[in-house]
Amino acid sequence: MNQADFYSRLVRPLVLFAGLAAYVLFTVGLLRAGLLDTSAGSLAVLLPVWVLGCVVLVTLPGYFSRLHGAPLVLSRAFWFNLGAVFLALLVPGPTRMIMLVVPLFSVVYAAIYLMRGQVLAVALGTALLYAALAGFRLVTTSADPLFELLSALAFGVMLSGVLLLSAEMHRLRENLVERNRGLREAMERLQELALRDELTGLHNRRFIMEVLTRQKALADRGQHGFTLCYCDLDHFKQVNDKFGHATGDQVLRAFADNAEAVVRNVDYVARFGGEEFLLVVVEADETTAATVAQRLAERTRQMQMPGTDEPFRLTVSVGVTRYRSGESIDDLLSRADTALYQAKSLGRDKVVIAPEPSVRPVRVELP
Ligand code: GH3
Ligand code: MG
Ligand code: MG
Repeated sequence: MNQADFYSRLVRPLVLFAGLAAYVLFTVGLLRAGLLDTSAGSLAVLLPVWVLGCVVLVTLPGYFSRLHGAPLVLSRAFWFNLGAVFLALLVPGPTRMIMLVVPLFSVVYAAIYLMRGQVLAVALGTALLYAALAGFRLVTTSADPLFELLSALAFGVMLSGVLLLSAEMHRLRENLVERNRGLREAMERLQELALRDELTGLHNRRFIMEVLTRQKALADRGQHGFTLCYCDLDHFKQVNDKFGHATGDQVLRAFADNAEAVVRNVDYVARFGGEEFLLVVVEADETTAATVAQRLAERTRQMQMPGTDEPFRLTVSVGVTRYRSGESIDDLLSRADTALYQAKSLGRDKVVIAPEPSVRPVRVELP
């Protein structure tokens, strides 16, 4: 049982029962002191029934959860006030004012858990109950009409005061909820920013390193092998020099879109830095991943330089290597980087699969 459970299952019911017991003892004390305008006999029947109802409503949801949420809070508030108002009306003297404080707790309780309209319903219900029972008493007993009128007015004022306070509570709560929502949205945005590359919208280096760690763990358990494609745009510096940095940025964005278009949605694409990109091709061997890389190379060759008719053939070099069980991410990246270097030295615009240890590099012929 955690701390919240301990409070809601044990501490809260115990405090409620203690309060109820104190209230019942106080009522019995008033009866003994002759301050209750009723026969002990009728109270001996009604009081236990009401107390039993209160106990059931407090403990019930722990065992039978059919009654929960707003209906449960409303049932508790109305049942509790039925008894509290009835008992208060049995007190003919000014002591009634003390007894009338008790039903106000139900309104406060409702204000904590319910909407404004439901709280108003509890307050109005309590006021109507009071009016009905007081009217019945006036007709059937020799109660003092002036005292009854004054105490009804006093109770009305008390209820209105509690209602005003509960409206203020709701306003504060709504402010808090609104502020929390704003904070949550800001947090989500920050998290998104922390994991995405701002220029291209692809995953960033930090995120892809996490992906690699996770994929490594899966692969080491014998599930879901993966292959890495390390892509580097060829002579990208010349793009910037010739067309400007802004055009260079546009080219990076267009390349990112192409990279996302060639992989499946289970794969990952990240901007690893500058004009370098990583594709993590999940559950694919090197040949399959090389085919993906070739598709990307083909699309790159077809790219138009944004905002100009000047010819410039953009190309990409790619190093491809499969993850080998048990190796480190650094080893994997470094092998992919070596294959990429091979692709560059073979004249760029190439896809090179990293060789098996002690085997010569394999060059894949592009169509
Ligand atoms: P290589 O074929 O050997 O890879 O040549 P390269 O010119 O692509 O490589 P180099 O490392 O010499 O230059 C990379 C260039 O990429 C230089 C840098 O200005 C550019 N670059 C890096 N990040 C960005 C960026 O965010 N936007 C733009 N426009 N250019 C960038
Ligand atoms: Mg580079
Ligand atoms: Mg480059």
